[in-house]
Amino acid sequence: MDYVSTRNAGLRVRAAQAIAAGIAPDGGLFCPTEIPALTQADWDALPGMDYRARAALVLGKYLTDFTGEELAGFARKAYADDKFGGPDTAPVMTLKDGKHILELWHGPTCAFKDMALQILPHLLTASLQKIGETRTACILVATSGDTGKAALEGFADVPGTKIMVYYPVDGVSPMQKLQMTTQAGDNVEVVAIRGNFDDAQSAVKRIFTDPATADKMQAHGMLFSSANSINWGRLAPQIAYYISAYCDLVQAGTIRMGDKINICVPTGNFGNILAGYLAKQMGLPVHKFICASNRNNVLTDFFKKGGVYDKNRPFYTTDSPSMDILISSNLERLLFYISGQNDKVVSELMEQLRQEGRYTLPASLFDKVAADFDAGFCDDVQTAQAIRRLWEDERYLSDPHTAVAVQVYEQYRAQTGDATPTVIASTASPFKFCRAVVEALGGKLEQDDVSQLDALTALTGLSAPAPLQALKGKQPRFDRVVDKANILDTIDLLL
Ligand SMILES: *Cc1c(COP(=O)(O)O)cnc(C)c1O
Repeated sequence: MDYVSTRNAGLRVRAAQAIAAGIAPDGGLFCPTEIPALTQADWDALPGMDYRARAALVLGKYLTDFTGEELAGFARKAYADDKFGGPDTAPVMTLKDGKHILELWHGPTCAFKDMALQILPHLLTASLQKIGETRTACILVATSGDTGKAALEGFADVPGTKIMVYYPVDGVSPMQKLQMTTQAGDNVEVVAIRGNFDDAQSAVKRIFTDPATADKMQAHGMLFSSANSINWGRLAPQIAYYISAYCDLVQAGTIRMGDKINICVPTGNFGNILAGYLAKQMGLPVHKFICASNRNNVLTDFFKKGGVYDKNRPFYTTDSPSMDILISSNLERLLFYISGQNDKVVSELMEQLRQEGRYTLPASLFDKVAADFDAGFCDDVQTAQAIRRLWEDERYLSDPHTAVAVQVYEQYRAQTGDATPTVIASTASPFKFCRAVVEALGGKLEQDDVSQLDALTALTGLSAPAPLQALKGKQPRFDRVVDKANILDTIDLLL
């Protein structure tokens, strides 16, 4: 199977090249030229498989440069019991009113990024081998919190790689900061940038494109790569969990094979929900995707207001920080597929976005989008109410991101009367965003986030995940703070 850039279908590569490169040289995103269908034999076999086997089967449809044994081995290592707290890698919790919560946060960093970032290092190092690349891969990551830690945990001590994470010094929660600065591993570096997330991201882009830095890397036998969701190697593993959740619902007798479900996702960069859309194209019976946003509701407007994407609006900091985003990069991949892989249309829209900060989908394309997607948003007050309601009525504790999705789903169901069973992606452990959850439940706030873990346990009787508890008393290894003007010097830390 070949991969092409969303902005130039003439730029054709194999899966290993797409994963090793991360992003296409023209700034587009690599996409498979066809979306593979699951066969009847696949559907017969999938429900009886464990998560690892399901993931390997789905990945095998896309990553045709890899053998089945390779992928099965990667999945076994990535989703091992000791990393995900047991064999139930991505369990589904059935609540009232058609809500089926797909918990994607049982991995080592307690957010859904682990589902992809635990397997990406295996895919990336194997891809480098397959294309004959012998240089050390330096993974650069700019993060607003969850991606940084998950990437560090995934790449720590992986031979042939080094990883450098940049975070905005005042833009991450104390818990996220402690998770990153206490990271173990001989090949990891963590640097705080004075500025916000956009500053960190543009600083990283500068490193990627600086010619002198490129020479320096070359002289040291190193090359750069990327671990964010523009990399196909991060997106592909996410397709598997929607198919897995469906199989679990079939196994539980909640639905019959062939019945339709809805999928509701708390969305930021549009990676997670796009993986669901790809699962549908492979044959997963999905009625509607419900795209849930917080107060940064650029996507709600896009889906509800005729396909106008307009990022010229205020940026809000919310209690669901991983969804605080105004440019949802992976929407570009959706545009590519609904336009029938029309690279020209996609390039034009992306150029308008770059120049004017907005674009409008042609009506014929918007109709296709509207057939599959619905959308909604809620603010922090409604998010807190949803956390409290879920806990009081259903004894289910959710983090603020998941709560946004639950709230938006309930709005959708009330407005449409659509009672289709709905898989709601739960993207983080409530303990990872303790402060907002304790506040929502009316508890007393402690000084720091780590003590907050005990406050949440006292309120709910639930215990915090082991990786978060292990942060208590840990000493930070990394305390470097740099001005963005000096970002290029930080590369010497990797040499
Ligand atoms: C990254 C993240 C999201 C947003 O996911 P996208 O794939 O960027 O849409 C939602 N919730 C949490 C907790 C996250 O870490």
